[in-house]
Amino acid sequence: MIHTAAHPVLIDSPFMPPGYLAYANFSNDIIRIGKCDLGHGIFANKNIAKNETTLTFEGPRINFLQTKTKGSWECMPLQIDSDLYIDTLPVGVFVNHSCAPNAGIKRDKDLVALRPISKGEEIRFDYSTTMQEKSFTMECRCGQPGCRHIVDDFNTLPETQKTAYLQKGVVMSFIARDYRYNFINSKCADQTNRGYKSSRILL
Ligand SMILES: [Zn+2]
Repeated sequence: MIHTAAHPVLIDSPFMPPGYLAYANFSNDIIRIGKCDLGHGIFANKNIAKNETTLTFEGPRINFLQTKTKGSWECMPLQIDSDLYIDTLPVGVFVNHSCAPNAGIKRDKDLVALRPISKGEEIRFDYSTTMQEKSFTMECRCGQPGCRHIVDDFNTLPETQKTAYLQKGVVMSFIARDYRYNFINSKCADQTNRGYKSSRILL
C-alpha cells in the first residue's frame, strides 16, 4: 500500500503531498534523490556494501481505514502489521519497486542492501515483501527480467520467490511470522499423521 499505480514517487505529480517537493534535492553520505524512468527515486551516493542500511522508513503509525482516507496518497503508507502502517515520510517515500531488487526491508523499517550497490545505482525493493492486505495492487514497469507486471500481496508470489525473501530476512515480520507458523503447523500435521505426538512449537 505504499505506492500508487505506476508513479509512486513522482514529485511533480498530484500523487506527492505538498511539501515533499522540498526533498527533490535531498542528499546525504549514503543516498540522494534523483530522477529515474518512473519520476524520482533513491540513488546510492557511494558504493554500498551488502547488508548496509541505506535508510530507515519513518512516519506516524496509522491503521488500514486511515490509509483509505488519504485520497490520492493512500498508496504511501508502508504496511507493518495486519492493521498497522507507517505513514511514510521523505525520504523513504521516494523508494521505488523492483521485481529484481538490490535492497530489502529488515527489522520492519531499515532498507538494507541485498548485494553490493555501486555509487549512482538506484536502490529499490520488492513492494510485495510488505503487502498482505487483500486491497491494493499496482501495475509494474520495473523492466527487470522476470518482471511480474503486477505487484500484489506477498502470498501471491511464486513459492521460490517467497522462500528466497524469507531466507534473506526481508519480509515484514508480521508476514514472515505467519509463514513460519504455517510451516511448523504443517510439519506437526505430518507427524500427527505418522502417529507421532503433536506439539505446539513457538519460535
Ligand atoms: Zn516488475
